[in-house]
Amino acid sequence: MKQFDLTGRIAIVTGGNGGIGLGMAQGMADAGAAIVVAGRNADKADTAVKQLKESGAEATFIPVDVADDQSCADLITASVTHFGRLDILINNAGMNNRKQPDEYDMAEWRQVMDVNLNSAFACCQAAYPEMKKAGGGKIINIGSMYSIFGGPYTVPYAASKGGIVQMTKGLATAWAKDNIQVNAVLPGWIDTELTQTARKVVDGLHENVLRRTPAGRWGEAEDMAGIAMFLASAASNYVTGTAIPVDGGYSTLG
Ligand code: NDP
Repeated sequence: MKQFDLTGRIAIVTGGNGGIGLGMAQGMADAGAAIVVAGRNADKADTAVKQLKESGAEATFIPVDVADDQSCADLITASVTHFGRLDILINNAGMNNRKQPDEYDMAEWRQVMDVNLNSAFACCQAAYPEMKKAGGGKIINIGSMYSIFGGPYTVPYAASKGGIVQMTKGLATAWAKDNIQVNAVLPGWIDTELTQTARKVVDGLHENVLRRTPAGRWGEAEDMAGIAMFLASAASNYVTGTAIPVDGGYSTLG
């Protein structure tokens, strides 16, 4: 379908070296996009780039520490230098640090904010002139069920992911005039390194997710491919400022 065709489009995915980021990168690659895999872990990135290339896509690794504003700006510059333009940005890199709220020190709070929220704003700011130059663009910010719900062990994480949704709405209104659509995706419980770690420390998490998710299973990284393809393509040209759950019905169950 032409509307979903991403041939000639250049996409950056922060945290594209594994988990949800790689699932989304693969979806866009399957639709014809060239991918910049951005992250810290070069071994994981090499494997991800190999997977994307073997599927027939162009892909390259550009290192970034998203907690560092300058590193975010450098990522955009290096991507444009490599591929010549920028059309799609997925702000996916993220972390969690589970504690009761009274146990965090401020440096830990700020680290979660820097990695999950401030990074996304820094990348968006740096990407904006390049997307304007390209005549438009697509920005996809990764939120969470904690963009909607609260939890005693996830206060900074939920604050950062709630911020992602509000930032998305603001940018969508500001940049609609430039033909840049900005949307958020709110994944449910997806089986990745992040949640494998959580399963080790949270008793009963695995069973609770199965019980609480109408689809009756954890999501897989591949479940994130379709929404990336849609929000990155012309099929979503009149969709902006939204926050779309991809959660097997988790957020719908009363
Ligand atoms: P992973 O742990 O597999 O992925 C996290 C990614 O973020 C890694 O690729 C990691 O790259 C990157 N990253 C973390 N810190 C930095 C940093 N400082 N600089 C650059 N890259 C960084 O987990 P997921 O795939 O699950 O998470 C991806 C996103 O999805 C996150 O934003 C997460 O909050 C969100 N999410 C996940 C859910 C789930 O159920 N799995 C549910 C809801 C939201 P590297 O390895 O190179 O450090």
